[in-house]
Amino acid sequence: MCSRRHFLKTLATALAAAPAVSLGGAGGTPVRPLPDGFTVLRRGVGTFRAQGGTIGWLIRNGALVVVDTQSPKTAPDCWSGLRDRTDEALDLVINTHHHGDHTGGNRVFAEHTDRIVAHENVPALMRQSAGDEASKTYPTETFETEWAETVGDETIALRYHGPAHTRGDAIIHFEKANVVHVGDLVFNRAYPYIDVQAGADSQNWIAELEAIYGRCTDDTIIIHGHANPEFGPAGNRNDLLVMRDFLAALNEYVQQQRQAGASLDEMKQKEALEGFEGFQFDWALSLGACIEAVYREQEG
Ligand SMILES: [Zn+2]
Repeated sequence: MCSRRHFLKTLATALAAAPAVSLGGAGGTPVRPLPDGFTVLRRGVGTFRAQGGTIGWLIRNGALVVVDTQSPKTAPDCWSGLRDRTDEALDLVINTHHHGDHTGGNRVFAEHTDRIVAHENVPALMRQSAGDEASKTYPTETFETEWAETVGDETIALRYHGPAHTRGDAIIHFEKANVVHVGDLVFNRAYPYIDVQAGADSQNWIAELEAIYGRCTDDTIIIHGHANPEFGPAGNRNDLLVMRDFLAALNEYVQQQRQAGASLDEMKQKEALEGFEGFQFDWALSLGACIEAVYREQEG
């Protein structure tokens, strides 16, 4: 039995073991070195990795924005690293979705801004999720399908395209930098968490990945919520199709096994799906959990 609490603990442990991403990247030359875990991507947008979902940030021309907040333990390190770089006020925080490894540090950042933006389903999903209610800091603003705002000289656009990883996933587009934070819509070359209890829909997830792919260019940098350390949390739009292909293969496998009369336990004996053997590494999530999630989905 893998409880939500156990999942988060093991996920955090696995991510802590992942090496920090080195400084540098396309077009990003920092004025002075950034602390461990920080990476500059392009036009003032970068990432911070420690434990939990990848944090995205924007520091540029008077703008300071944070996407996702990890945990109360790591958020202070992120904040102090950002504060080293700029004295600007924190304009706003955006949550890609409600999971605790993406919103757990909200209260750390809420000391510096009164704006936390997320999809309109996020507050309810946070309320129904495990964890001490007093430790949760909720979004202050929500949106239904689209939200956009100019901050400094960057335009940030949020979109929601229906249930996928959860039923509250926002896709965050730094339009001028051409960087997209997809949250947990991509576990880059790693088994994903399919949160059926929170309304996950792997079929719509597939469609959504294709829609995002269509809005990106070959030059778009994609920030992933989680990643196989061999590939890292920043990549390009082709990563979206790898995730799509895995979800499609997973659905096909479960469908075929059901038609063949296999039990769930029998289905879960599968070691790896063909073409996705690399998703198996020292990682808290398993193919068996993915199979069970899709099995539950197909059961309705
Ligand atoms: Zn998640």
